Amino acid sequence: MPDPRRQIPRTDAVMADPRIAAAAARLGRGLVKAGVVAAQRRAREGALQPEDVAAAALAALPPCAATLRPVLNATGVLLHTNLGRAPLSQAAQEALLAASGTTDVELDLSTGARGVRGRGALAALAAAVPRAGDVMVVNNGAAALVLAATALAAGREIVISRGEMVEIGDGFRLPDLLVSTGARLREVGTTNRVTRDDYAAAVGPDTGFVLKVHPSNFTVSGFTASVAVRELAGLDVPVVADIGSGLLAPQPLLPTEPDAATALGDGAALVLASGDKLLGGPQAGLLLGDAALVRRLRRHPLARALRVDKLTLAALEATLRGPATPTELALRVDVAALRRRASALATALRDAGVPATAVNSEAAVGGGGAPGVVLSSAAVGLAPRYAAALRAGSPAVLARVDEGRCLLDLRAVPAERDPQLLAAVRAVDPAG
Ligand SMILES: *Cc1c(COP(=O)(O)O)cnc(C)c1O
Repeated sequence: MPDPRRQIPRTDAVMADPRIAAAAARLGRGLVKAGVVAAQRRAREGALQPEDVAAAALAALPPCAATLRPVLNATGVLLHTNLGRAPLSQAAQEALLAASGTTDVELDLSTGARGVRGRGALAALAAAVPRAGDVMVVNNGAAALVLAATALAAGREIVISRGEMVEIGDGFRLPDLLVSTGARLREVGTTNRVTRDDYAAAVGPDTGFVLKVHPSNFTVSGFTASVAVRELAGLDVPVVADIGSGLLAPQPLLPTEPDAATALGDGAALVLASGDKLLGGPQAGLLLGDAALVRRLRRHPLARALRVDKLTLAALEATLRGPATPTELALRVDVAALRRRASALATALRDAGVPATAVNSEAAVGGGGAPGVVLSSAAVGLAPRYAAALRAGSPAVLARVDEGRCLLDLRAVPAERDPQLLAAVRAVDPAG
């Protein structure tokens, strides 16, 4: 008996296989070669027939050259931070793809001369908030805060309520971020209460601006008092409002969530917000407000370090000009429709031999928006072991585990993805 391990094809030979060569052209030689080497190792260990090395290497290749995978968000959290917050609309995805090659991001095609970078996205943002004297886009909400603090308050004071010294997540705290710019914080009030007089007493010649931070990931209740932008606007210093969520106009479904148009109307000099929260767009920091202030921010050297790329500009413009975003659709979806979908999915699963029930559920906005707001929803309930199996599937499905059940909450799943969700559950080994 010849040793079968001596028949394992050499790496060069496997790489020359036309199917492997095509994969290498698409995914990169290094990635494919690593897969071939892994298959050869399995053959040496006797886990694979030598003639199957190429086929096994092909089967184990990832679908694309990056490790990020699409995940169906069945958590019931509309803006899931670990899933990249807002999913982009089809329109935004197409715009992003169109801009991904060489594109006229900073060129005027009619004259051939240099053009204003991202002018389409800026015009769309300005059109969406006519009250804004000027607008600007940076990398994210935190970058917008850093730019405002650096340009308007470095070496000076930012007046901020102690009740608004917020940790935004993953250990990052806004006060630390602000202080890192060289601005000093002038804290006013207490954790639960602050008055206009507290602010008025703190404002002086050293004040860069008064900062209002929306408590976007927690609520306070009981003996509390805060001061609205409108009341602070008369203090004779700029009021900067960090509204977080990115709503540009009031959203009737979230009546307590701040929005840019209202904050500007109430007298904020500058409004800061994120692009990938309730606006439903790409990660970005939006700055809107007084034209002279925005010009100062735009000309600040730091602005260059915080600028967004063409992909962000393309996706943001399409988000602003295009149809309702998946986030907005998920927010305003009819609960009866969710219940019908849950019941149809559960029936189809039971017909396929998978124990499943349709249950009422509660969803949330998440991701730094509308804390405490409960969104009625519907889910498919499965045995708990499904949660891990669904995460490992393709597409991966992230469920919510609740009181010993695996819940597939449908609030953040577009209806047209139901067949994929069904297939993902059916693909789980019933024997587990
Ligand atoms: C989310 C949030 C931020 C941070 O914005 P990023 O876009 O995550 O950088 C800052 N302030 C508030 C109030 C927020 O809700």
